[in-house]
Amino acid sequence: MKYIQKDFFTSKDSKLFCSTKLHFVLTNRYHGVSKPPYNSLNLAYHVNDKLESARINRSYIMQKYYKNKTLLYLNQIHSNTIFAIQENKGILEASQHNLKGNITTATKHSILMQDGSQYNEILVGDGDGIICNKSDFVLMSMVADCNPILIYAKPQNVFAVLHAGRQGVCSKILTHALMLFIHDYNVKMQDICIFIGTSIRKCCYEIDNNLAFQLMQEFGEKYIACENERYKLDMIGLLCDEILSFGIELSQVEISPSCSCCDESYFSYRREKITGRFALFASLCDEV
Ligand SMILES: [Zn+2]
Repeated sequence: MKYIQKDFFTSKDSKLFCSTKLHFVLTNRYHGVSKPPYNSLNLAYHVNDKLESARINRSYIMQKYYKNKTLLYLNQIHSNTIFAIQENKGILEASQHNLKGNITTATKHSILMQDGSQYNEILVGDGDGIICNKSDFVLMSMVADCNPILIYAKPQNVFAVLHAGRQGVCSKILTHALMLFIHDYNVKMQDICIFIGTSIRKCCYEIDNNLAFQLMQEFGEKYIACENERYKLDMIGLLCDEILSFGIELSQVEISPSCSCCDESYFSYRREKITGRFALFASLCDEV
């Protein structure tokens, strides 16, 4: 397979984010060292790529964009669990928020931060979102068809990065994150900016009949397209309606136009099965 190398999409290319303190980068499959089928910028440790290759790949992004910062990442489990991060004298405090119905509950744990040689990284826990207001940290969501989502509130400088596949979207991880912005950080919805990176789109996301009927019952028919008795799910449609339900306007949202399954510049679990993960990285940076 021959690929044309493509640059990463960053906040500098984004109309919504280019003049804010929030810097993000959405990687693709190029510019890394992993061998096929993980070629080449696989950023995940859990896909059976050589650990050393994934480490070099993560380090490449951290050195290029986020020198001297600490990378926070998750053991992603397709949940709606979100960790809120605070730091206190070298101890990272992570409050784990779970959403059931409309109720969010929190439990706290502490992680001792250590000095790394090139950059630090911390596995925060099992979950699919991190919210934070500290510029020392870089948040990352690893994907290969799921939606990498960034939420940012400029006045409070709070940001969250989510991993939202079908299960995350359907269990309302985005709603959960927006609830935390409102209740825990006093954010007003008109101050929110959202970026949704490359993910599998309705052109490619075929689901089986049972699941299609179940989702139609739960969310309505508009998100499922049916052609020749084959059903396709529109996760972006679901996410946009969820965003609108909070009074956030679509002018506050930027959505990557590419489908990970159509565009071979990205890893796609649907297209490749055994493959790597690209990622959305985000951090607060002083220079704009
Ligand atoms: Zn597609």
